[in-house]
Amino acid sequence: MSDCIFCKIVKREIPSEVVYENEFIFAFKDIHPKAPIHILVVPKKHISTFNDITSEDIPLYGEIIKAIQKITKDLNIADSGYRVLVNVNKDGGQVIYHLHVHILGGKPFKFEEKGE
Ligand code: 5GP
Ligand code: ZN
Repeated sequence: MSDCIFCKIVKREIPSEVVYENEFIFAFKDIHPKAPIHILVVPKKHISTFNDITSEDIPLYGEIIKAIQKITKDLNIADSGYRVLVNVNKDGGQVIYHLHVHILGGKPFKFEEKGE
């Protein structure tokens, strides 16, 4: 989508700190990191939200999983642990409407029901 910020990042029209790229996937550092390691993994194809992933996109989502496994291994956090997070729509806290998976790592997390 022409006015989508993450499509522009994928096309390198907007600069980002690229961590990984292949035919299907683009991964870059979050501009406002919420953990010592905060990476966004996006499909190059524009999909607005997690809700919009179709059956046809499942192999593409598999590529996201493979990229996350590779990135976390390369950054040495695969074994110590990390968090993957997808915010979906308003209540999920989604701000950018191009599907992205957050990788958060480099510190321990606690799973708490109440928000910040
Ligand atoms: P969401 O809340 O939609 O799941 O997360 C969007 C994320 O994108 C936020 O963590 C935000 O810091 C990040 N972000 C927004 N604009 C940019 C940008 O231009 N460059 C980078 N690298 N990250 C961005
Ligand atoms: Zn997009």
